[in-house]
Amino acid sequence: MSQPTKSHGRLSISATAKPRELISDTPDLQGAWTARVITLVPQTFPGVLGASLTGKALEQGLWQLQPIDLRQFGEGRHRNVDDTPAGGGAGMVLRADVMGDAIEHAMQGTPRARDDWPLVYLSPRGKPFDQAMARRFSRTSGLTLICGRFEGLDQRVIDHYEIEEVSLGDFVLTGGEIAAQALIDATVRLLPGVLGNEASAEEESFSDGLLEHPQFTKPAIWRGHAIPEVLLSGHHARIAEWRQAQSEELTRHRRPDLWAAHEKDDPDG
Ligand code: SAH
Repeated sequence: MSQPTKSHGRLSISATAKPRELISDTPDLQGAWTARVITLVPQTFPGVLGASLTGKALEQGLWQLQPIDLRQFGEGRHRNVDDTPAGGGAGMVLRADVMGDAIEHAMQGTPRARDDWPLVYLSPRGKPFDQAMARRFSRTSGLTLICGRFEGLDQRVIDHYEIEEVSLGDFVLTGGEIAAQALIDATVRLLPGVLGNEASAEEESFSDGLLEHPQFTKPAIWRGHAIPEVLLSGHHARIAEWRQAQSEELTRHRRPDLWAAHEKDDPDG
């Protein structure tokens, strides 16, 4: 891959005013994993993704972000994007026609196979996001993410485009942006070259269906608390054994659901 300049990274996260300009103004980093995000608040991107490891990787062109401002597809002079729910009730619903236009726009130039470019709506009704899903997304060419606001999307859009609904957890956010950023963060850190130490993605929580063992660092004694002796022994086999036992114990206690799945997959060990 050619080394992109820093300005590519900056340009690729700017939201432009007119639909036609958007894709052509966004230099496409050939081959870089891409997140297109349909949102009413494009100014919230890259947000936390612009910092630290994900931010550095964004600047290096290891991935790219293309926010798409839903407002540009709005109706009439006021660019309305929402209206009252059919059948009555509280709140507002994002219009099918407006969201449909935004999705059509976002799909331009993306691979046809959904396996290679999933179309995802962040939604509390969705399949719970997990590490296996992050791994699946990290093996695609990119994603289009739809962030809801208000009471969410008109159901016809979800059905028509066969959109995959993904939830961050059993709670309700005011919008999909924080969920989208969490999903992108978990996915991007699995892309080759993003984590400094490749091994750290293999040993951490969920990689083998268990929670991670406790971690310690300096000082050796802090406020009277010592680091477990085995970790200072230099005995690699004993350390690995201790960590495995801690992982199992933590998982059994805190996450009986994960423990049951782990036991089922690997009853001997
Ligand atoms: N009325 C909806 C909630 C709407 S919340 C319901 O009861 O299901 C507004 C938007 O925030 C949603 O459209 C969705 O995009 C986002 N959102 C809220 N909670 C979320 C969660 N747990 N996971 C992912 N997205 C969420």
